[in-house]
Amino acid sequence: MPASNVAQFFLPKELKFIVSKPYKNGFIWEVVKLRNDFEICPKCGSQTNVRCGKVSVTVREAPIRNDPLWLKIHKHRYYCKSCRKPFTESVDCVWPKRRTTYYFRKSVARDCESYTNLSLVRRDHHCSSGFLYKVHYDALKTKLNERKGSPWPTVLGVDEHFFSRRKGYTEFTTVFCDLKKRRLFEMCLGKDKKSIVEQVKHIPGRENVKVVVIDMSNGYRSLIKEFFPNAIIIADKFHMLRLITPALLKVRKNIHGHRQDLQRRRLLLKNREDLDYFVRSDVDEYLQNYPELDELYRIKERLREVYRCRGYRIAKINLERLINQMTSSSLEAVQRLRNTLVKWKDEVLNYFENRWTNGFTEATNGSAKALQRRARGYKNFVNYRLKTLTTCF
Ligand SMILES: [Zn+2]
Repeated sequence: MPASNVAQFFLPKELKFIVSKPYKNGFIWEVVKLRNDFEICPKCGSQTNVRCGKVSVTVREAPIRNDPLWLKIHKHRYYCKSCRKPFTESVDCVWPKRRTTYYFRKSVARDCESYTNLSLVRRDHHCSSGFLYKVHYDALKTKLNERKGSPWPTVLGVDEHFFSRRKGYTEFTTVFCDLKKRRLFEMCLGKDKKSIVEQVKHIPGRENVKVVVIDMSNGYRSLIKEFFPNAIIIADKFHMLRLITPALLKVRKNIHGHRQDLQRRRLLLKNREDLDYFVRSDVDEYLQNYPELDELYRIKERLREVYRCRGYRIAKINLERLINQMTSSSLEAVQRLRNTLVKWKDEVLNYFENRWTNGFTEATNGSAKALQRRARGYKNFVNYRLKTLTTCF
């Protein structure tokens, strides 16, 4: 097919094709803008049709069949009578002061999303990485702007994950998830109260939030009490249940050494009701020899039983009974767990009102970490936030 026919198909209507030539590793099309009745002065907005000279610009256009393409646009200069100054006519597909067309930026931004990494996009489009980053993150910003101004959701999950260690100390990010719609809502740098409030105070509708699920961190608890006045706080079930695990594993390690008897380790951590009758009695027989391990194991199972209760009232009775029972124990780990339970009793019991957990928030953390790995870590938090918020929802 002759180039003129292809060009007619691809070019915007206001441009007329003149000739196609080889240029660098692709082609360059010379085009001219069709004459309008009038042009509008960019400074004062008045109309004029007095021409005063010519000028040509070369801009990058979206590739055709993987061949890079440039446009050499012959533009006219116009004279504005009210400003008494000349100006150059504008072309719709090229924004002022840019050397690329709208379609080229769009195709690059699209490839940035679909390729596995940005250096492949750079190789395909033969452009600089600075340009690539700018186009990519501009596109993400535009995408995110559609969600701007949306208020806080009613059910919120809060958690943190690692961000970087570049500044000599470990930086964390705090994520806020909408648990009802199951999507990432907001993300901010740091996990201390002051910096979080600074970053999220512009979001409207704080009083909407009815339920917040967190892990057992005092910082988050006081933040939420202050920042979301109408919210009830739930301590996450998963974090609560695994509080005793490290102590259990430590005692087992002291008895058997590091790698010995790994099969029993698995059995000890498994939920008791998932085990066969014979395996269960085997575990019991084994535990008889080690009273310390036995006590920790029973407490782990008792806490799980509390979580299996139906209804707030029964759970409360069971939890209080467990706390009382733990008072008599001489083990340090048990006392530590008891203190945590006493401190977080209300939050633990709130779980039985509506049974929200932070499962989705943890899943989002997983996706965010996968993104970090794919990019080999992020330096810039703004970019990391843009990428994660547009990907994980
Ligand atoms: Zn003017």
